[in-house]
Amino acid sequence: MSSDDPRAITASPSAETQAPTEAGDLERERRLPHPGRRATDRRHDRPLPPSLLSPPMPPPPPRLDDYRAIVGQSQLDTLRFLAGELRGKTIKMVNSTAVGGGVAEMLNRLVPLLSELDVPTRWEVITGGNDFFEITKAFHNALHGMSYELTQAAKDIFLMYNEQNRRRMKFEQDLVVIHDPQPVALIQSRCQAGASWVWRCHIDLSNPNPAVWEFLRPFVEQYDAAIVSSQSFARQLPIPQYLFYPCIDPLSEKNKELPDSLVQQVCDDFGIDRSRPIVTQVSRFDRLKDPVGVVQAYKLAKKYVDCQLVLAGGGATDDPEGAVVLQEVKDAAGNDPDIIILDLPPWCAVQINAIQRASTVIVQKSLKEGFGLTVTEALWKGKPTIASAVGGIPNQIMHKLTGVLVHSVEGCAFQIRYLLTHPDFARSIGMAGHEHVKENFLMTTNVKRWLLLFRILEQAKAQRPRAA
Ligand code: UDP
Repeated sequence: MSSDDPRAITASPSAETQAPTEAGDLERERRLPHPGRRATDRRHDRPLPPSLLSPPMPPPPPRLDDYRAIVGQSQLDTLRFLAGELRGKTIKMVNSTAVGGGVAEMLNRLVPLLSELDVPTRWEVITGGNDFFEITKAFHNALHGMSYELTQAAKDIFLMYNEQNRRRMKFEQDLVVIHDPQPVALIQSRCQAGASWVWRCHIDLSNPNPAVWEFLRPFVEQYDAAIVSSQSFARQLPIPQYLFYPCIDPLSEKNKELPDSLVQQVCDDFGIDRSRPIVTQVSRFDRLKDPVGVVQAYKLAKKYVDCQLVLAGGGATDDPEGAVVLQEVKDAAGNDPDIIILDLPPWCAVQINAIQRASTVIVQKSLKEGFGLTVTEALWKGKPTIASAVGGIPNQIMHKLTGVLVHSVEGCAFQIRYLLTHPDFARSIGMAGHEHVKENFLMTTNVKRWLLLFRILEQAKAQRPRAA
């Protein structure tokens, strides 16, 4: 099947735009010096096991029928019914990174499942230089409310890379979905009678930096619809907005069941002692994930209860800040041998799965969050989870029912101590959290939302005035 074939099915971004293939991207990351391993503070520089130095062959993506045991036959029948009317219609998904972060994680599964339902879906990644990704990272932080001085130079660079990608990409599909702000200006390729264009925003827009939002808003308003991850992220816009919860794939390497022997092996590899309580945060080393706050909370809790802290993270290709934040975390950890900082390459899904499964309590102490897929992953594994009441996290954690919500370092420390000393309560919220994810945040539910939206947009398109 050639890459020009509109039915070409890609589970990873296509090379059509000279975007790196996922394997190419992984290979490039492997050759880059890993920032954490270069750091001068050796106390937390544990070498990776040799088996992790290069990416493993990804397993074939699951087929729809593989989900039957988890979600039941009726869910699968619903998806096939909804897809029936869309058979042969095509989708293009565009984002800014092939690996690292929740968006890439979701697209990796969504794309093959839609394609299996005869709705051929292609995923492409925009390209850009460091100057572009530094600006888009600053936009990301600013949209989350941080102060930022938007300059004309930043606008020009942003628009220049968008234009470069726009010229290179073809938009021949029936539905074009642009993820997040980085490629938002690709909308300039929309023509009135052609595809429906949707802006899928994964970040918290409830309190954006006004200058950045005013710069992006005119692009957003040209879309046919916008999708946000939480009710509170909706903005006042002249286009319809839809609420899509993000989701996880229960059959992915990150979330599938693992034999205990493998969990033990991973813990041995990383020096994690399973005979003692393990508190974990999995996240990119990003200030908005507040890894330093997690270290502080652990240190407060540790005065009262024995535990280890595992901070497992890595970088995304569109995040240039990771190395600096990693160093800040190492400095905060000091010489505590019970703090295990793991700077993992992006192909460590099984290892993250094993670490989450080995954990006694999982923390997500973000200062700002889109949805927080790491929370979803923790809940799915039945883990008692402590997370900040920010972004989409309160949609996942109902306080004291499916987890606990916190608002400060001290609150987080208190809950670590409480959950480690009240195992029955911890177990009960873990079980409720698993059920909540099963009902609301699995990939199959997400596929259903996309199919429904696509049908709505196709109907709206049929009613649009045709260009002369
Ligand atoms: N993740 C990963 N390796 C890391 C850090 C995070 O695979 O070193 C994964 C994590 O398990 C989750 C996703 O990246 O699936 C992060 O999604 P989330 O919504 O929590 O945060 P984002 O990074 O998108 O802000």
